[in-house]
Amino acid sequence: MPIKKSPEDIQLAMKSLQANFEQILSQKMSFFSAVSLSLRQHDFTELPEIVSQAHQLAGSCGSFGLHFLGRLARQIEVNALLVRESSDSDIAQLNLCEAIDHFVKELNQDRSVVNQPVVKTLDAVKTAQDVWFVLSDSDFRSGLEAQLTTFDFTVRSFSSYADCKLALKERLPALLFCATKLADESLFSQDALLDCVVQNKTKLMLCSKEDDFETRANAVRHQAQAFFVGLPDTTHVLQRITRLFDEMNFLDKKVSILDDDLLLAEHYSWVLESAGIEVQVIEYPDQVVSDLLSFKPDLLLLDMHMPEYSGSEVSGVIRQYDSLSSLHITFLSAEYDIQQQLQALSFGADDFITKPISNQNLVSAVKLRLARNRDIKSLIERDSLTGLVRHGAIKDTVYSEFERVKRSGEHFCVAMVDLDHFKSVNDTHGHAVGDIVISTIANLLQKRLRRSDRAGRYGGEEFLVVLPDCSAANAKRLLESLLSAFKNIQFSGPEGQFTCTFSAGLVSSAGGFADSDTLIEAADQALYQAKHNGRNQVVILEDM
Ligand code: GH3
Ligand code: MG
Ligand code: MG
Repeated sequence: MPIKKSPEDIQLAMKSLQANFEQILSQKMSFFSAVSLSLRQHDFTELPEIVSQAHQLAGSCGSFGLHFLGRLARQIEVNALLVRESSDSDIAQLNLCEAIDHFVKELNQDRSVVNQPVVKTLDAVKTAQDVWFVLSDSDFRSGLEAQLTTFDFTVRSFSSYADCKLALKERLPALLFCATKLADESLFSQDALLDCVVQNKTKLMLCSKEDDFETRANAVRHQAQAFFVGLPDTTHVLQRITRLFDEMNFLDKKVSILDDDLLLAEHYSWVLESAGIEVQVIEYPDQVVSDLLSFKPDLLLLDMHMPEYSGSEVSGVIRQYDSLSSLHITFLSAEYDIQQQLQALSFGADDFITKPISNQNLVSAVKLRLARNRDIKSLIERDSLTGLVRHGAIKDTVYSEFERVKRSGEHFCVAMVDLDHFKSVNDTHGHAVGDIVISTIANLLQKRLRRSDRAGRYGGEEFLVVLPDCSAANAKRLLESLLSAFKNIQFSGPEGQFTCTFSAGLVSSAGGFADSDTLIEAADQALYQAKHNGRNQVVILEDM
């Protein structure tokens, strides 16, 4: 698992990149001073290099805060292209020389690379599982608190808006779940509190005793993400909260960058890392496929103009691979010509982000794409009730893990998890309540597993869990802790409150199985044994 970079690491890296960029600018100054002389002697041999260098600078200067210089570089590029098209035009040549001189003159000025603010690490604070309540009903509050704690959320409760406002000065929660009225006070007259929530992008969920249009409109006005009437079912609230966290959490998202300007690629990589996104910088276009296959990014940011291969060619090659056919490819390019942009998209890339781009805009643009991508992918791959991958996808995971450990010699575990006496839950409380139980265990699996672990919905109330680099003993401990968390969750149905258990069959790949299907069958066998032993337990195949 990658080590998260601290804000200090990021600041330091950005500073050193900026120093490197200053050096590069000095080299560019020598280059452009020299070509300015040769152009005046009608020597156009460097014209392609002028276009390429100016294009790069037009894209990169802005990222280092030198917007004016970036625009001057763009002027050089435009004029150099005109000269290339009509080499006999004296005016075009003159314009190019003037553009270069202007750029060199500006570079000679007392300039310093402007320290653009790194995207505030506020995003990182928010991804902490911090939930605050300002709710009146204490039973409801404590029930919800107990459930959220099971799911590793950190919970804090306040009994008045004033207390909450005071605490907001010290720390910002990721989510505030708030009553619209407390005693005689209305939330909507708490301007300072609401301003603080909106400004800091804390998610807001509301709970109201009244269900009228004005209250609902007020909720929308204050960007509330959910609106509950009366005392909602705690499991429903929990579902909504975990979904909200999933939506704002980009920590499991990965972005690859391929740009011939390595310094700029590094810069973008730090900017995105500062927003919690894991980044891979690909150095060589001809290694893009193997790099992508091993890193498995959610998005590729691809430069369009590179010396050896164009971005379009690279995206064309990527699309030849079935396993990369759904990768979102975004050109991050200084190309401003819409014709060229459209032409480039015809090779299989998805869209464009135009350079130069500010740090904040880059992060927003990337997050927007990651979110849209996640929605589409989850519609295709995931089961709508649980949000887990379906039968085929989780079987594929076992298969590829099996192939991986065959080469690496490591071991992994597979567990088959099945709810106990689930039929009677449906029979007693109805199918809808049964659905809540299923989605709750799915949530628990997602929350409690490590990032590298995978869980899928194998069948109706059956789940398959894949645990890479894990011994059978550790896997058993993990599943037993999941079981004890699960059976503490109080569900409520028409026939009153109830709890559930599950049984799990566990098997390690160390057992020397012929293939991944045999491994899954063995986990099923261990599950059968767990059921036979009286359910509510985890059985390892080797112990049978
Ligand atoms: P055991 O402890 O032996 O596993 O008993 P069980 O009752 O859990 O097992 P059985 O396989 O007999 O019943 C599983 C039930 O799960 C039957 C089916 O209606 C129900 N089920 C399957 N998928 C869903 C679903 O998506 N929603 C709901 N509510 N129920 C489902
Ligand atoms: Mg069952
Ligand atoms: Mg079953």
